[in-house]
Amino acid sequence: MLNIVIFGPPGAGKGTQSQNLIDTYHLAHISTGDVFRAHIKNETDLGKKVKELLANGVLVPDSITISMLEEEVKKNPEAKGFIFDGFPRTVPQAEALDAFLTKIGTAISVVVALDVDQDELKRRIAERKKIENRADDAEDKLLKRIDEYFTKTVHVLPYYKNQGKLHSINGIGKVEDIFASIAKAVNTVK
Ligand code: AMP
Repeated sequence: MLNIVIFGPPGAGKGTQSQNLIDTYHLAHISTGDVFRAHIKNETDLGKKVKELLANGVLVPDSITISMLEEEVKKNPEAKGFIFDGFPRTVPQAEALDAFLTKIGTAISVVVALDVDQDELKRRIAERKKIENRADDAEDKLLKRIDEYFTKTVHVLPYYKNQGKLHSINGIGKVEDIFASIAKAVNTVK
């Protein structure tokens, strides 16, 4: 199995590059943010529990997130591998993911971190705002999520660096050039 974790703050191009990875390697894509949003939309019990947290851009507790992630993996028994997008965001989540993958006879193959600094992200948001005419409220939440990434999620990177699996990729430039760097990293473990 080929299992990839993709990291990056909001606006780093994770969505675009995840799609490129799906098209190239035919993996199942699990975006925990998307799964939570689907639960909220469908008004499930889980959706009701996490609605406020997502609205405020704060992290959902690990226990809830980990069991949801395991359910999503189990829904895809035929998958050739997974792209984990938006998960793990804490070290306990990373440890739980390793333990779970070991249990089902697989492991994380490679970790890709899209590197885009905060000034560039703010520039991209300002640009997007001009085009999409987003409300200030939406902008505040986006800034909060960027802050979550740089204060919390980045602490997961050393966990994978210690395992020798982390590839930091410059996320500024042409989409196809960035993907070429990602594919090179992935191909080292294929
Ligand atoms: P995203 O679309 O990945 O930015 O996720 C949107 C929101 O979902 C986040 O701001 C969190 O509230 C929640 N979320 C997504 N993934 C996780 C995770 N791994 N741990 C905790 N909360 C998460």
